[in-house]
Amino acid sequence: IETKLPKVGTTIFSVMSQLALEHKAVNLGQGFPDFEPPQGLRDALTRAMNDGRNQYAPMHGTAALRGQIVLKVAQLYGRKLNVDTDITVTSGATEAIFAAIAAVVRTGEEVIVFDPAYDCYEPAIELQGARAVHIPLTLPTFAIDWQRVRDAVTPKTRMIMINSPHNPSGAVLSAADLEELAAIVRHTDIVVLSDEVYEHIVYDGAQHESVLRHPELAERSIVVSSFGKTYHCTGWKVGYAVAPAALSAEFRKVHQYLTFCTFHPAQVAFCEFMASNPEHYLELPAFYQAKRDRFRALLAPSRLKLLDVPGGYFQLVDYTAIRDEDDLAFSRWLVQHGGVAAIPLTPFYERAPGTRLLRLCFAKSDATMEAAAERLCGL
Ligand code: PMP
Ligand code: GLN
Repeated sequence: IETKLPKVGTTIFSVMSQLALEHKAVNLGQGFPDFEPPQGLRDALTRAMNDGRNQYAPMHGTAALRGQIVLKVAQLYGRKLNVDTDITVTSGATEAIFAAIAAVVRTGEEVIVFDPAYDCYEPAIELQGARAVHIPLTLPTFAIDWQRVRDAVTPKTRMIMINSPHNPSGAVLSAADLEELAAIVRHTDIVVLSDEVYEHIVYDGAQHESVLRHPELAERSIVVSSFGKTYHCTGWKVGYAVAPAALSAEFRKVHQYLTFCTFHPAQVAFCEFMASNPEHYLELPAFYQAKRDRFRALLAPSRLKLLDVPGGYFQLVDYTAIRDEDDLAFSRWLVQHGGVAAIPLTPFYERAPGTRLLRLCFAKSDATMEAAAERLCGL
């Protein structure tokens, strides 16, 4: 058959997890915690299943869970959402991203993405018959060069996708960045898709600059988050999209025929857990900052050069001192001969960046970090 996605192969996350298994490597590749979600959340899930919450959830999510999201967004970002119209619960952020793009972007239009870009963005754009316009982030801080964005906007630009904290670099956007973006989209019909799945994982006392904090941008944005990242349960695949009523209505037209609704027991469990443990996401920065700092200390004696990590749960490392080869080759060598699985950056670029950087996930127990560090320090 004639392929609709000629450039797409198996995602690097599956490839590296498979190689990690084959070579019995410590898996710091695919981003997921190797520790369990809070006991109270697991108990709430079991209770929901035993209490008969096993049939279809409401199409846009349970009212109670949407209510919890309203409270959170008001508390953290000062935005008052309408519980009925502005929130849609989805089967992970991945579904929300696909639905947002499918709902907004038409054939022949352009979507600006920043490289390295999370790998589910471009296929979703291409399936609409649209084109991704790639702008590389500026190293070493992975900052957005706003002049390049201004130059890339055309009458065909329908969407700009941002991701803060950023996967894979951990870079975070500042309030000034959001002002730049607002100035660019003002007086256009460009929609902003803001991937904020790591919204609660920002370090060193910084605050997450959500688009939801910015009233002008929020009026034209779809903001996506993921319970998987916040509650250590990536396998449950529950996320949500926030957008003003008119945009949400378009979003829901796609969502209702893509999945219709999301795993009902988990919605009940998240709602109960959020209500009884409102401090969970407030404690997340300290929780992950301790892991970040521990991981960096463990790697200090290695020949890896550590880049700064302002947010998210990934550490970028420059491996030039160990082997001078491209990141695809080095990540294969590392999983086979170094006993550690990592993620190369090239798959997240339109044009191979030529950098010597790998991404290591530190959402791991001390034992896993220590085992990985012992191997990495021996290289
Ligand atoms: N966006 C980014 C930047 C991510 O890192 C991830 C997951 N790692 C997702 C979206 C998808 O989230 P989910 O697992 O909830 O589908
Ligand atoms: N988002 C995770 C990461 O960046 C992977 C998710 C997936 O495997 N699709 O590692």
